[in-house]
Amino acid sequence: MINQEIKKQYETLGIKKEVIEFAEQVEESLQERFKEIDQVCEYNQLKVIKAMQKNKLSEAHFAATTGYGYNDLGREVLEKIYADVFGTEDALVRPQITCGTHALNVALSSCLRPGDELFSPVGKPYDTLEEVIGIRPSIGSLAEYNISYAQVDLLPDGEFDYEKIKEAINERTKLITIQRSKGYATRPTLSVKKIGELISFVKSIKPDVICMVDNCYGEFVEIMEPSQVGADLVVGSLIKNPGGGLAPIGGYICGRKDLIEQAAYRLTSPGLGKEVGATLGITGQLTQGLFLAPQVVSGALKGAIFAANCYERLGFSVIPNGSESRHDIIQAVEFGNKEGVIAFCKGIQAAAPVDSFVVPEPWAMPGYDSDVIMAAGAFVSGSSIELSADAPIKPPYAVYFQGGLTYPHAKLGIMSSLNYVVDALKLSIL
Ligand SMILES: *Cc1c(COP(=O)(O)O)cnc(C)c1O
Repeated sequence: MINQEIKKQYETLGIKKEVIEFAEQVEESLQERFKEIDQVCEYNQLKVIKAMQKNKLSEAHFAATTGYGYNDLGREVLEKIYADVFGTEDALVRPQITCGTHALNVALSSCLRPGDELFSPVGKPYDTLEEVIGIRPSIGSLAEYNISYAQVDLLPDGEFDYEKIKEAINERTKLITIQRSKGYATRPTLSVKKIGELISFVKSIKPDVICMVDNCYGEFVEIMEPSQVGADLVVGSLIKNPGGGLAPIGGYICGRKDLIEQAAYRLTSPGLGKEVGATLGITGQLTQGLFLAPQVVSGALKGAIFAANCYERLGFSVIPNGSESRHDIIQAVEFGNKEGVIAFCKGIQAAAPVDSFVVPEPWAMPGYDSDVIMAAGAFVSGSSIELSADAPIKPPYAVYFQGGLTYPHAKLGIMSSLNYVVDALKLSIL
C-alpha cells in the first residue's frame, strides 16, 4: 500500500514511471549492503554518544562566547568529545578554521620548519594543497619557507610502492601526508586498514616521522578512524562528514597532545594557543552535527552505492563500481559525452531542497582549465555533505557527486538525474 503511495509521490515530483520501476529493482538488490552500512552507522552512533556522555555534555555548553573566548567550556568539551571519537589525546575543533584546506595548512605549517621535507607516499595531494605546499607556486607556501616536498605515486594497481617509499625517506623527512579519499583523482580510496599498514611501514624506517592523514570525506565510513591505526594527526572539514550537515563552518585537527598544541599556536598565536577563540553561539550546531554525522554519512553512502548500481546497469563506467567496498562518500560516473554530464547535474539540482528551480550550466571558473558544471542546492553554502555534483567539461566526461543529508533525498537526486539522462541520451532503461 505505502509503496504505491511513495510511487505516486515520485510521479508528482515529475519522475518517469520507468525510472521509478528501475530504481525499485536496483534498490531491491542492495538490501544486504545497506544492512552492513546500517551496522557501521549503529556502531559509530554509539561511539559518539559514549564520548558525549563521558565528557558530561550539558545544555550550558551551548551558550555563546564572544571576544577572546577565554574559558569557553562548550568549546573545551567539544574538543574532548572529538578526541574521544577519533581516539586521540587531544583535538582542535574551531569555527576559526575556515575549511578543510585551512585545517590541513595549519597542521602542516605547525609541524614543519625550514629545511624539513614533507612527503606524500600516496601520489598527488588534493588540488588545493598544491598551493599550500608550493607544487604550484603561491604566496606563503611551504616552499617559500624552504620546506621541500617529495612524492611517490601509487603503483598502477593502486598498491603502495614500498621500495620507492623506503628510498624517499631521508634525514629531512619530518612529516608524511596520507590522503584517505581519492578526492577527484582516479586512484582507489584507502581503507583504514591499508593506511595502518603504510604507517607501520614508514615508522619501521623512521620511527619519529609524523604521520598525518587528510581524513576529508572518510569520517564514519568505517568503524575505525586512521588515528586508531597509528596516525599522529587526522584532519578534516566540518562542512563535510563530521559536521553532519548542521555545522555552518569549521575544521578539526585531532591527534597527539604536543602536535595539537603546536597546531593551536599556529592557528591563533604563539603563547595563546587553545586558550582563545570565541564560538559565537555555534557550539550547539557543531555538537548536534557530530551527533547526527554517523546517520548522515550512512545515507550518503547508500546514495552513492545506489547511484553506482543504477548507472552500472545502464552500461556506464562507475568508480567505485557497484560492488566494491567503500572508504569514502564520493562517486564518479563516466558518461563519455558532455550531454550526459550536463543532464546528470541538472537532475541533481532539480531534486534539491534549496534552489531546485535553478538550471546549472557549464561555465569557465578560475583555477580550472576547462568549463565546469556544478549542481548544489544546500542549506550551508558549499557544503559537500549535502547532495552535490560537479564535473569538468572535458574527456572522459565524468561527473563526481557526493552527499545527501538523508538517503531518501540522495535517492530522489539519483532518480531525478536518471530522468534527465534518459531524455538527453535517449536511453531505454527497462
Ligand atoms: C574537500 C577536501 C579538501 C579541502 O577541503 P576544503 O574544505 O574544500 O578546503 C582536502 N582534501 C580532500 C581529500 C578533500 O576532499
